[in-house]
Amino acid sequence: MNEYDSERVASILESDGMLRAASPQEAELVILNTCSVREKPQHKVESYVGKLRKNQLRAGLPHKIGIMGCVAQQEGDKFLKRFPYVDFVLGTDNLTALPRVLHETILGKRLSESAVQNGEAFHIPPFERKNAVSAYITIMKGCDNFCSYCIVPYVRGREMSRPQSEILDEVKRAINTGTKEIILLGQNVNSYGKGLSEDSCFAGLLGAVAETDGVRRVRFITSHPKDFSMDIAETMARYPNICPCIHMPLQSGSDTILKKMNRGYTWNEYRDKIMTAKETVPDLLFSSDFILGFPGETEADFECTMNAVREIEYEMIFAFNYSVRPGTKAELFEDNVPSDVKTARLKALIEEQERIIAKRYTGMVGGKINVLVEGAGKHGEKVYTGRTKHNRVMNFTSDAPPETGAIVNVTLTEAKRNSLFGKIDNLYFANAILPGARITCQKQS
Ligand code: SAH
Ligand code: SF4
Repeated sequence: MNEYDSERVASILESDGMLRAASPQEAELVILNTCSVREKPQHKVESYVGKLRKNQLRAGLPHKIGIMGCVAQQEGDKFLKRFPYVDFVLGTDNLTALPRVLHETILGKRLSESAVQNGEAFHIPPFERKNAVSAYITIMKGCDNFCSYCIVPYVRGREMSRPQSEILDEVKRAINTGTKEIILLGQNVNSYGKGLSEDSCFAGLLGAVAETDGVRRVRFITSHPKDFSMDIAETMARYPNICPCIHMPLQSGSDTILKKMNRGYTWNEYRDKIMTAKETVPDLLFSSDFILGFPGETEADFECTMNAVREIEYEMIFAFNYSVRPGTKAELFEDNVPSDVKTARLKALIEEQERIIAKRYTGMVGGKINVLVEGAGKHGEKVYTGRTKHNRVMNFTSDAPPETGAIVNVTLTEAKRNSLFGKIDNLYFANAILPGARITCQKQS
């Protein structure tokens, strides 16, 4: 979501007459787009602001420093007080105010604006994006779930959905600038439509995006397990261009911990949804987030998480040590798992996941995988890179450069820890997988 917001800001600044600098050291204005979901990224912001100041004192640049994103929303005026050389702080709903705020800072003011957008629907004005194979598109904002550890509901406010017509317009604009893959974004995409007067739901939106001319792939993040409904799985099964992967964070495999986290589901309920969805959608794989060392997590609780990872065989996991977030309910719980225990559990979980993936992909060597071409790779001449339908990086060799944005068949030759290697299948070159249309295969010379 921050990447999406950064693209919006770049477009706002460019239409205000600004040019991109080659590096922060050469920039007259630096805006940090910040994340406060865990303690570590928040600390990084503070140390980076300090570095910018040192550069400013030494080299005179940047002239202006601004902070946006969740730290900005959370800290507001306090940030301006703590860092007297920061010129402005802009909350998560205030990006359109940027040109005015910037002009006021040029006149010498220091500003903090963090009003939260409320109302029937959430709007994002059209903006220019760089042509890229994949485009993120925000479909909703905020979160009403209040998981006990999470700061998002406090910094991103209540759930609000963008009208479907506005989202589809943005999809078409992205396609017109060369995008082939659309990634729909929301803290909880399954609750899309809540509060909209029109009869909108996520499954309907997903189908409408998949049917838009020129959309070769559709992905979406994040699905909350408690709100995931089978109409989404049925829609995925109907459209071959919706990638068969769902990011559905479990967080913990222990019911005791899930309850304390206020996640609203049990491990059995989660597993049942996954199994039913797998029966509905061919090739479906899941990814998940996990928090290790949540207050009160015992070895037995952790073992439940390990077992969950073994049983679901996720395609990817994102795991983090628990960190206390100010103002959350869990702030009142004793953070009683020692940090070395948290880290040991994190390491064990990641190693288990790596074993699962190594087994999956070594077993697939020699098979064909379809890949959306992103362009030249970093592994030498005639090596290109792209992503599989399960969102894994694939590096592959090809004598002729494949068209960026094409979907090609690649024979898997080697599975490494973080990436796959292959060679383009010289026989087939699938250039369209639109629903309703036949997949057209052309012979490549
Ligand atoms: N809306 C998504 C999560 C968004 S936050 C969902 O419900 O799944 C992204 C991830 O950050 C979370 O899934 C969680 O694993 C992690 N996270 C959030 N708060 C955290 C905290 N206080 N400590 C450690 N990890 C946290
Ligand atoms: Fe945070 Fe829970 Fe909302 Fe996800 S669903 S953003 S983890 S409160």
